[in-house]
Amino acid sequence: LFVSGPLAQDSEIALEGAQAHYLGKVMRVAVGDAVIACDDETGEWACEVVSAGKRDVVLRARDLLRVREDVPDFVLCAALLKKPNFDLVLEKATELGVGAVQPLVTRRCVADKLNPERAVSIVTEAAEQCARTALPRIKPVLKLEALLREWPDDRTLFFADEQGGEPAARAFTANPGPAALLVGPEGGFDEEERAMVRSHPKARAITLGPRILRAETASISATALWMAVAGD
Ligand code: SAM
Repeated sequence: LFVSGPLAQDSEIALEGAQAHYLGKVMRVAVGDAVIACDDETGEWACEVVSAGKRDVVLRARDLLRVREDVPDFVLCAALLKKPNFDLVLEKATELGVGAVQPLVTRRCVADKLNPERAVSIVTEAAEQCARTALPRIKPVLKLEALLREWPDDRTLFFADEQGGEPAARAFTANPGPAALLVGPEGGFDEEERAMVRSHPKARAITLGPRILRAETASISATALWMAVAGD
């Protein structure tokens, strides 16, 4: 259960809304019960229920069980997709351990908005499911042009290009350090966008093989590969 922290030894936190409902009504916790909570700042705590009301549940942090994990310095810059497909990308990117997701709007995007609360709830559920002690940051939606304009000098932007590039695993191994992956929408990038990305000084075009993958497959498979090669 992710709670807003930071938690500290013997600190108390009052949960309301969906979290109180889940603990109070679904799990039927009672005073004295043990609950494990994570604050995305210090780590995972063994907590004790100190009050369980109809609308709120209060927890007291007892012992720090796991210090918050180190998050790989990898940003997934993914063009927005139809809702279920982007939801899948958020879920799998969380499982794989990305540090942040940067949703993008590009010329061929069919979607141009992302509900930030919904996105956070998807990544929170995914992190809880696989016992992560950190959540990926969901950055505000950006246009591709703005992303490239503001790109930092110290981060490699691996550009997943279905028209070809360096084999992904080789490019990941040859470029250690802060990284990001750029993946287009269902219809891909247009030629002007491709040229703009390819001419960016920090971009390196990569291929994920000779087949054209669906955008969500490209995001998930390239992220898995980067994590296997560099994501300690
Ligand atoms: N423009 C293409 C078309 O409509 O035929 C397809 C775009 S593909 C569905 C969506 C995105 O996935 C691309 O923009 C690219 O970033 C990524 N992608 C798909 N296959 C890839 C591959 N073999 N290598 C690298 N990236 C790939």
